[in-house]
Amino acid sequence: MNELEFLVGHCLYTTEGRHFTIEDVLKWHTDPKHAGGRGWRKPGYSDVIYLDGSLHNMIPFDQDNMVESWEISNGARGINRRSRHYAYVGGLGKDGNYKDTRTRAQKQSEEVYIRYMILRHPNIKVMGHNQAPNTDKPCPCYDMPTYLRSIGIPGKNIYQH
Ligand SMILES: [Zn+2]
Repeated sequence: MNELEFLVGHCLYTTEGRHFTIEDVLKWHTDPKHAGGRGWRKPGYSDVIYLDGSLHNMIPFDQDNMVESWEISNGARGINRRSRHYAYVGGLGKDGNYKDTRTRAQKQSEEVYIRYMILRHPNIKVMGHNQAPNTDKPCPCYDMPTYLRSIGIPGKNIYQH
């Protein structure tokens, strides 16, 4: 059991404006490989923010500072035991290129979500998946530190690599 250190933002790499659900994510992540999934035991995110800004929980967690095994989500290899992961629906433009497709409602929810997590965990550091060690992924398709500064998140909660 480790202390919660990082809140990690992701996208689903789904096309702008298209609705997907946590049931879809569960299939993509936990279906066996031969059935087209990744074969993980658990999905990659604790919470997912839909296009309409609603927040949907995939893996329950409690409010203390520890990451217990039942709380772990598999969002970024190497830091999952110290992290909580969330994702927004989107991340690809209609042309198939990586893009920040967050809707206004998604951005509003994400900001509240981040602020609440910091309220609960005053020392947590927020990062984008693309800032995690050993990743070459562009996820979440926007620069997290720039975004966090733009909404006034304190520097001590902004992960810099
Ligand atoms: Zn990611």
